[in-house]
Amino acid sequence: MGLHMQVIIALLLGIKRNGHIFIGLILGILLGIFLPAEHYGQVYKILDFIGQAFISIIQMVVLPLVISAIIIGISNIGDSKQLAKFGGKMLLYYGIITVIAVSIAAFIALALQPGLAAKGLVNPDVIQSVQGYVADALQYQKENLVQIFLDIIPKNPFASLSEGHMIPIIIFVSIFAVALSRTGEIARPLVSLFESIFAATMKVTDWIMYLAAPGIFALTATSVSQFGVSVFHDISKYALAIVVALAIQFFVVYPLMLKLFSKVPVGKLYSAISEAIMVAFGTASSSATLPLTITCCEKRGISNKVCSFVLPLGATLNMDGTAIMQTIAVIFIAQMYGINLTPLLIIEIAFLAIIASSTSAGIPGAGIITIALILNGIGLTPEQLVVGFSLLFTLERFTDMLRTICNVTSDTVVAAIIADNENELNYELLCGENSKDKA
Ligand code: ASP
Repeated sequence: MGLHMQVIIALLLGIKRNGHIFIGLILGILLGIFLPAEHYGQVYKILDFIGQAFISIIQMVVLPLVISAIIIGISNIGDSKQLAKFGGKMLLYYGIITVIAVSIAAFIALALQPGLAAKGLVNPDVIQSVQGYVADALQYQKENLVQIFLDIIPKNPFASLSEGHMIPIIIFVSIFAVALSRTGEIARPLVSLFESIFAATMKVTDWIMYLAAPGIFALTATSVSQFGVSVFHDISKYALAIVVALAIQFFVVYPLMLKLFSKVPVGKLYSAISEAIMVAFGTASSSATLPLTITCCEKRGISNKVCSFVLPLGATLNMDGTAIMQTIAVIFIAQMYGINLTPLLIIEIAFLAIIASSTSAGIPGAGIITIALILNGIGLTPEQLVVGFSLLFTLERFTDMLRTICNVTSDTVVAAIIADNENELNYELLCGENSKDKA
């Protein structure tokens, strides 16, 4: 049986296992189509409330989870040679997967030319609402480039914690964890404390998942009802380019990576993470999905040592779905404005997309914000951007839900490869019927 067929069957089996979430998803899409936001204000508001509440509840576990996972992960790896090996491999695979992602995205955008179809399309309302935002974002990038890099240094880790700035937190916690791993026995009580925090956080996550079906139903219904079917039709080529590039990444690149660098059967891995994939789609947040991503991977045999190190870092840094969207979006805008897309400019866009995507937090809408960094990098002015940017916003939630699937899947693919390479993968759990939760 072909690889693609296996992947689809695995996904369908996963969907069957999580039928309640899938039903929520389908009902949400249907309701969204028949519930235009402007006609059913009250129902829309209630659904919006349920959706936002679900995201907030699920995000409440993210900080304790990321911190405890990184501390346990790094300090358990202990010996610094192994840490360097894990870290080095992780960066290498994340790098390879993202470079392939932006190359595919650039190729598809140049082949389909989505910007030409949208030339002359102007939506005055949307333009108006994002105009101020675009100008501010670009102005900030322009004036504060050095500051943006300085902000990554965690000068006050507690301030970063309270403001939820993930990159400085990750840098601080990683340094702290390496220090703990070098401090010997005296560090043990603190590491045990974080092990307890991690275990309790995972328990809370289990409870939260009871809310997944209504939460995803509400989120999908509200976002679909916002799309506005006619605008969707007008910029369908942009949507098509993103869907095609993400699909190639999901159905071809990840399976090939698994085949080339490990013996992990792609169907088994995709089936194992199907629940996380659906939550990624529904929440459009890889950070919010992280607890579930870890649970899925650990239940199916990827060791805690690998999961707790590779997945939290990936949920913040490895965003190849986002990089795909950003590359296509900027080429789309360039085509709309008739900018000459020289090979050098395309390479620059792709390179900037790798940086911009990895500075995007794993939350809904982060990727569209950091696009400003790419546009600024290629010298576009706010005046030129307004129309193009508005169009990106029209499809933002839709592309966000899809690209988050790739962001999450890519993390698990890298985790599985590293676990395979390092003998940290229990193949009986991955391939057998029995997963830890059923045993
Ligand atoms: N929503 C994406 C994620 O959480 C990030 C983005 O592209 O906006 O992975």
